[in-house]
Amino acid sequence: MIKLLLTIAIVVVVLMFWFGKGRGGGASQNGATRRRTPGPQPMVSCAHCGLHLPQPDALEGEGGRHYCSVEHRRLGPGSNGRS
Ligand SMILES: [Zn+2]
Repeated sequence: MIKLLLTIAIVVVVLMFWFGKGRGGGASQNGATRRRTPGPQPMVSCAHCGLHLPQPDALEGEGGRHYCSVEHRRLGPGSNGRS
């Protein structure tokens, strides 16, 4: 009886370790590949403040415009100039 419980416990621990390792490794690997894009990245400028930033980091707004942050995307393009 104790052997059976021990076996079940070991199996559960191994399964937890396996799934945790698999999920963690996959997530970190995916994040690394997304973050470290090899080669030059296309640069875009924020439609609100004009800040230049890599396109993968930019937020896409209406009309294909890019923004540096959620707040600037909410504020919209061209705050300086026409109101
Ligand atoms: Zn901005």
